[in-house]
Amino acid sequence: MSGEGRTPCGECGAANRARALYCLACGAKLRRPPPPVTETRVDARRLRGWMACFDFDQTGETFLLREGQNVLGAEPREATVLLAASRGQVVARHGAIRLEADGGAWASPLDGAMTLNGAAVPSAGSALHDGDQLRVGAYTLIVKLLP
Ligand SMILES: [Zn+2]
Repeated sequence: MSGEGRTPCGECGAANRARALYCLACGAKLRRPPPPVTETRVDARRLRGWMACFDFDQTGETFLLREGQNVLGAEPREATVLLAASRGQVVARHGAIRLEADGGAWASPLDGAMTLNGAAVPSAGSALHDGDQLRVGAYTLIVKLLP
């Protein structure tokens, strides 16, 4: 897949695979970007799933999804799923995931574009299913929904 994140070598500047540990050009150990700043907040809504991301931390990062509206974005006061703008193309209120009490799940763009399993998510939204792959800016998020 093109468009995946690249890890530049701090020694020689060569672009390496996003998950590479050592530079293919010079062999130097590659540094990873720091993890995103996350803010502890109390969200009392029922946990309905989560998203996993392996783009920036090969051990994986998780983002919790709760019943109702989940706003994905880079602005801590607006987003319940906080992504790092510095990682590229994530805007303050980028998109939303709505998890209905009856089990329905929907992804829809807000001020940014998203793709779901490789297809652009229309403004009307797309149904979301367990195992879907959602792309938000430079993030590839694997969606896990609880039954
Ligand atoms: Zn290098």
